[in-house]
Amino acid sequence: MKFETVALLSALQISLVQAHKAARHAHFKRQDTATTAPPPLDTSTDIPPLASISLGMPTKVPPTFTATFAGGATGPISGAPPLPTLGPIALSAWPTQDRIPPVDSPQVREWMKELEGFHIPDLRPTLDSTCGGDPEAAADAANRGWWTCGGHTRSTDIVACPNKLDWGLSFDDGPSPYTPNLLEKLKEKDVQATFFVVGSRVIERPNMLIQEYMDGHEISIHTWSHNALTTLTNEQIVAELGWTRLAIQTVLGVTPITMRPPKGDIDDRVRAISLAMGLIPILWTSTPDGGKFDSFDWRVAGGEIEGPESVAAFETIMANGTNFPTGFITLQHDLFEITVNLAVGYTLDMAINHEPKFDLQPVGECMGLGDGGVYRETTKNTTFPYRNNTGLDVNGDGTPDVLVNTGTGTGAGFTITVPFWSSLTVVALATVSLFL
Ligand SMILES: [Zn+2]
Repeated sequence: MKFETVALLSALQISLVQAHKAARHAHFKRQDTATTAPPPLDTSTDIPPLASISLGMPTKVPPTFTATFAGGATGPISGAPPLPTLGPIALSAWPTQDRIPPVDSPQVREWMKELEGFHIPDLRPTLDSTCGGDPEAAADAANRGWWTCGGHTRSTDIVACPNKLDWGLSFDDGPSPYTPNLLEKLKEKDVQATFFVVGSRVIERPNMLIQEYMDGHEISIHTWSHNALTTLTNEQIVAELGWTRLAIQTVLGVTPITMRPPKGDIDDRVRAISLAMGLIPILWTSTPDGGKFDSFDWRVAGGEIEGPESVAAFETIMANGTNFPTGFITLQHDLFEITVNLAVGYTLDMAINHEPKFDLQPVGECMGLGDGGVYRETTKNTTFPYRNNTGLDVNGDGTPDVLVNTGTGTGAGFTITVPFWSSLTVVALATVSLFL
């Protein structure tokens, strides 16, 4: 078979897979904003049998959650500022929940200045974040460093824990009404994770974020509205990251230095903007043949598969993780009752009881960033991510990094020059004005 034919066929295959994925994502999104009648109420207290965990299963009233920590409380990280004293949060002072924030606000205009001095690749937004939906961008995926389409990464992406059998545990999309059930289980098992939180949900449930943080979990940014970032303009990406960063900083008093793009949708433009804003991208691990360390719990919540299939995917993760040459990072969610039930009732115990033993921990910890290493206020590492203006040095070799292509493509990469925080004062001032 001629090379062109093979290439065409594999491109077609990728397109079909991506089109299928897009359909699944659309399905998932509908569940997120479902307006149909709720499923029947389950008044029992136990986790349901695995075989019954599927979309439409009986649901339970979310646990009652009451705030435990007062403003001024000492945080779990040495050197961290005390918890801010929060008055009632005025939702009207923040962008609309689950919507892309407007870009003409004073805050976004100020955050745009953080991009000055950086080379932001001139890539047009993708049409719908999928290969199948945007064949032109898909053909340029390697050059774009597009992870969603072909798994292309750069040296600045965190994609795996360095040490074999280390497990970077992560939960995305919360805080949700069911998050307390997960926190209780994690506390019972003395396991910490990274929570990639959605800014608009942080503002909605600030006390749950505080509980996550005070329990020793790491907090990272997962955008304001959970839209795919490659589809957005530069200004919209800045708004998504900036508002979420501000939400977390406002509630906790610390500022994350990491982010995870929704759906893993990142390319060199999104990457450069994130890095310019002081946010290192964290993805989840892929095997060399493209298999992802994805629990597929979101597919259960989206009605595409049922509980046993997600647990089977988890078994595959553990088998791959056992044989993987390094540690790894997984993807799970705490947005839905279904995904929390899967973790609390099934997968966390599977992971904890596995032989050989995995060392479950937050991503920053497995990366060796140390106590407080994932927040700007408390990181003690002078080169990671960057506390000064000597240049981005993720690999710690003393010189500014060039973002080189570590994926399968042949992109030229790009250079980051002289990053520097410019908006600290502005962020602090803006924080004050957001509360009544
Ligand atoms: Zn997500």
